[in-house]
Amino acid sequence: STEDHTSLVSGYLQHIADQCAADDSGRVADYIPELAAVDPGRYGLSLCAHDGYIYSVGDTATEFTIQSISKPLTYAMALGGHGADAVDAKIGVEPSGEAFNEISVDARRRPRNPMINAGAITAASMLLPSERQVAPETVEAAFAGLVDFYSACAGRRLVVDEQVYRSERATGSRNRAIAYMLDSFGALTTDPDAALDLYFRQCSLRVTTEDLAVIGVTIACGGTNPRTGRRVFSRSTAQRLLSVMTTCGMYDGAGDWVTSVGIPAKSGVGGGILGSLPGQLGIGVFSPRLDAHGNSVRGVDTCRHLSADLGLHMFNIT
Ligand code: GLN
Repeated sequence: STEDHTSLVSGYLQHIADQCAADDSGRVADYIPELAAVDPGRYGLSLCAHDGYIYSVGDTATEFTIQSISKPLTYAMALGGHGADAVDAKIGVEPSGEAFNEISVDARRRPRNPMINAGAITAASMLLPSERQVAPETVEAAFAGLVDFYSACAGRRLVVDEQVYRSERATGSRNRAIAYMLDSFGALTTDPDAALDLYFRQCSLRVTTEDLAVIGVTIACGGTNPRTGRRVFSRSTAQRLLSVMTTCGMYDGAGDWVTSVGIPAKSGVGGGILGSLPGQLGIGVFSPRLDAHGNSVRGVDTCRHLSADLGLHMFNIT
């Protein structure tokens, strides 16, 4: 019966949670006080199957900020709004092998990919009008559209963490440097401060592991949220997201990730990891302690276990 099945899966997920609980290595992000204050012992894990059914264990109601897991979604919006050719002219799709906040571009002076900050800020800039001075109300309106899109992916109204947003904005010198460097190359067609504001806001949206699992399954199902039945983005955009998440989603840890886990994924410094297995399921995991790449230690470990136990590696040969 469904009930037996659910308790079987929940029991298995609890077993994974227990296995990962011993590892308390890594450090909580501390570049802003709000992230430094997060309880490092929190842990949540959710799976959403392609039929929309959710399985969860741990702190699955705990909200944390989406941070870089926002990057594929804003990229999807840029692709939907401008088409792949226009986006490709501005943002590459090559893994950078460098840290997420590296100030680097390719020979054509494009950010190397949309999963590092330079590419993500450029993607955000493409959601704004091509004007050198963008009014705060215009950024507000663009952000409202962004929240609608992310919420449609999650199947729930997402809300911004105002304190995190203010801190991101107040301490964002590195991101400001990236945006101004891009602007100096002519890579941004809009007001760099407006693009940054939009990026800081998108990073500050609050999610749960269930939200990440549902967003993950929406990508896995080709852009249709199986819980609401609503098409949020196109199949070709979904294929794009899966591709860049595979090659660039885990930053400079990407090669190791593909080899040992083999699930298209995106991490954020809030401690979340989103996984998306084409046609099958979405994964949301949360644990705030991060490794040297900025990926959740227990989150990575959890995905390793899931992949090995359930044969989820995308190149699993049966
Ligand atoms: N807000 C963070 C930044 O822009 C997000 C980085 C991340 O999650 N890797 O630096």
